[in-house]
Amino acid sequence: MEIKKVAVLGAGVMGAGIAQVAAQGGYSVILRDLQISLAQEGLKTIEKNLEKMIAEGFIDFKVKNDIINRITPTTDLAQIYDADLVIEAVVENIAVKKQIFAELDNRCKEHTILATNTSSLSITEIASATKRPEKVVGMHFFNPVSAIKLVEIVKGMETDERTVEIASQFVEKIGKEKVVINRESPGFIVNRILIPYINEAIFIYGEGLAEKEEIDLAMKLGAGMPIGPLELADIIGLDTLYSVIISFYNEFRDTKYRPHPLLATMVRAGYLGKKSGRGFYVYNFNTGGETKK
Ligand code: NAD
Repeated sequence: MEIKKVAVLGAGVMGAGIAQVAAQGGYSVILRDLQISLAQEGLKTIEKNLEKMIAEGFIDFKVKNDIINRITPTTDLAQIYDADLVIEAVVENIAVKKQIFAELDNRCKEHTILATNTSSLSITEIASATKRPEKVVGMHFFNPVSAIKLVEIVKGMETDERTVEIASQFVEKIGKEKVVINRESPGFIVNRILIPYINEAIFIYGEGLAEKEEIDLAMKLGAGMPIGPLELADIIGLDTLYSVIISFYNEFRDTKYRPHPLLATMVRAGYLGKKSGRGFYVYNFNTGGETKK
């Protein structure tokens, strides 16, 4: 089956990014959100990203306009029912996702593949809301979508090989690289490794073994990381980090995923990282640029 029309549900941070890369790959894209202003906001974000690409000399105005013209922002669900691939990127809430997938299953064409961009929910559980679990698959894009090359393709219990193949072809066509995860498991590959790694850095910091700058420098120079673990924690958001590590702990019931108590305390104090101006580092955005202490 050849994918021609793609629908993206949710025009937030991830949905807008996914719609952009799909349109850049030549697909017609329906971008659906609950209110037209939200869908249009998503399209505006895409326009801004494309303008940056023009400024950097990667594309010209004509290419930008062609990409934008391939994207239709809407609130109308009926517009997505003839899509060949639907990628859901709405809020991370299992009840909402199951309701959406049940509706998509009822209304979409028989061949339509239903993908979810969930970071932490069960693809199998989402698929259980449909009568086509073999055509439901995880397609986990990373933020920012236009910059990060990887997509994790995640199989639920009943996802079939044909679905993985079609999803893989799509990923290739939009210029990304995929890895396939044979069976869903918390954190897939990247976050399963990354989140405990950051948590370990917090243990080292919490035990007073080294200053934050030393820990970050050690991993940059000693392990070739482009960014230190505590700097990265601040970018991800300490609340997000805490909820992901707790979800690993709850799912595996393994103490190796316990968060350091300092992380919980920082979250309770409102130290959420860069977004709140304070995490492991303190950020000052009043200087024109950004300074970090
Ligand atoms: P977001 O809050 O930025 O955007 C979600 C959008 O979905 C909102 O605009 C909301 O109005 C819309 N929405 C809610 N219900 C809807 C519905 N029924 N139909 C259409 N739109 C609906 O969230 P996000 O950060 O883009 O995350 C979306 C998904 O992507 C989540 O499942 C999240 O776990 C996953 N994800 C997020 C990241 C990240 O770094 N933000 C990375 C990978 C995966």
